[in-house]
Amino acid sequence: MNILVINCGSSSLKFQLIEMQEQGEKALAQGVVERIGGEALLTLRAGARRIRKSAPVRRMRDALALVLEWLVSPESDGPVIPTLAAIHAVGHRVVHGGEKFRSSVRINATVMTGLEDCIDLAPIHNPANINGIRAVQEILGSEIPQIAVFDTSFHLTMPEPAWMYAIPYSLYRRHKIRRYGFHGTSCRFVSQRYRELTGRSEADTNLILFHLGNGCSVTAIVHGVSVDTSMGMTPLEGLMMGTRSGDVDPAVLELIADKEGMNVHEIEGLLNKQSGLLGISGLTHDMRDLLEEVQENGDRRAQLAIDMFCYRARKYLGAYMVGTSGVDAVVFTGGIGENSDVVREQILRGLHRFGIDLDPVRNAETVGSREGKISRDGLSPEVWVIPTNEELMIARDVRQLVKT
Ligand code: ADP
Repeated sequence: MNILVINCGSSSLKFQLIEMQEQGEKALAQGVVERIGGEALLTLRAGARRIRKSAPVRRMRDALALVLEWLVSPESDGPVIPTLAAIHAVGHRVVHGGEKFRSSVRINATVMTGLEDCIDLAPIHNPANINGIRAVQEILGSEIPQIAVFDTSFHLTMPEPAWMYAIPYSLYRRHKIRRYGFHGTSCRFVSQRYRELTGRSEADTNLILFHLGNGCSVTAIVHGVSVDTSMGMTPLEGLMMGTRSGDVDPAVLELIADKEGMNVHEIEGLLNKQSGLLGISGLTHDMRDLLEEVQENGDRRAQLAIDMFCYRARKYLGAYMVGTSGVDAVVFTGGIGENSDVVREQILRGLHRFGIDLDPVRNAETVGSREGKISRDGLSPEVWVIPTNEELMIARDVRQLVKT
């Protein structure tokens, strides 16, 4: 079964075509169309072939049409698939499922209405996802099974004290303003892989899981389910991220509005796109570049950005260690979590009295898509690095839902 996994953003479309067979799972092609709405940039990869080109792309439907055209053209890899009929199902990463969607679902008219109902909670992302679903219907026909996989579903197991905001209860009742959490698909993939690697059962899965990429979150998992997570109603809450502030005193917003003459919408943009590592360093949102900057030039603000990033992660670790009454492992994933032994070391430095102690050799060696335990033997909690694969998790959900 070939499954097309699609992730539609406000001006981008990411995709992966995954072959799911009994013998194994394989990514046949992947890519991204960026800057939809103008002169778009296409990056497409299949086997050893890689293409980068630009083309005018007006809307999501045109972006998808270009990708599909490429998949069946000799320009791809021979072509990747002979005809579009070789795509058997489509999986969509949907950002916000609100309280409605507790697990992945096959898309039908009722589900589409449910997705529209969640637009208030994710006004930029959910419309893009809906556009993507409609584009597939238009091009591949309404018969092809389409599955929605939500970033939020995994966290709907959180207990009420963890997901309520301490604001008037009526606001929750009227508008469903509450904490939802994101990165749920990544959490599911990584905890499944942790079970495969350790032989533990779902009931015996007790983790604190750091997903540190451009977006960053940490999730406490007890008996296999999410009991708390750092992102909130939107992905802005919690840890410091590439361009997002993470936690900030809400009273700061009024002061910024007064002093800088900005409206709420502009301030939200500032907190989402100009803050975090970028805002502090004034240089870049990219952790690898910041680490290099510190090493080569000793840049003070780059160092401060890294120090803040690690300190805030430590604080959440402390909160969740106590909140859960202890876990069996701390797990790192995402671009930074998987690749930066330096950041992992700084987050966990000096925690031996809490049972956490890294093995420096294992930590240094477990980078670049490697997985494994990086703490010293005989300690608890253990520390692991497990690379995530959200696309594969989506494809697995699609396969399961299409079969049943
Ligand atoms: P996204 O959240 O967009 O999927 P990724 O999970 O790919 O992003 O993470 C991107 C982040 O990972 C960037 O900050 C990048 O600098 C960082 N990263 C990737 N490789 C390394 C590395 N070797 N050392 C430090 N940071 C890295």
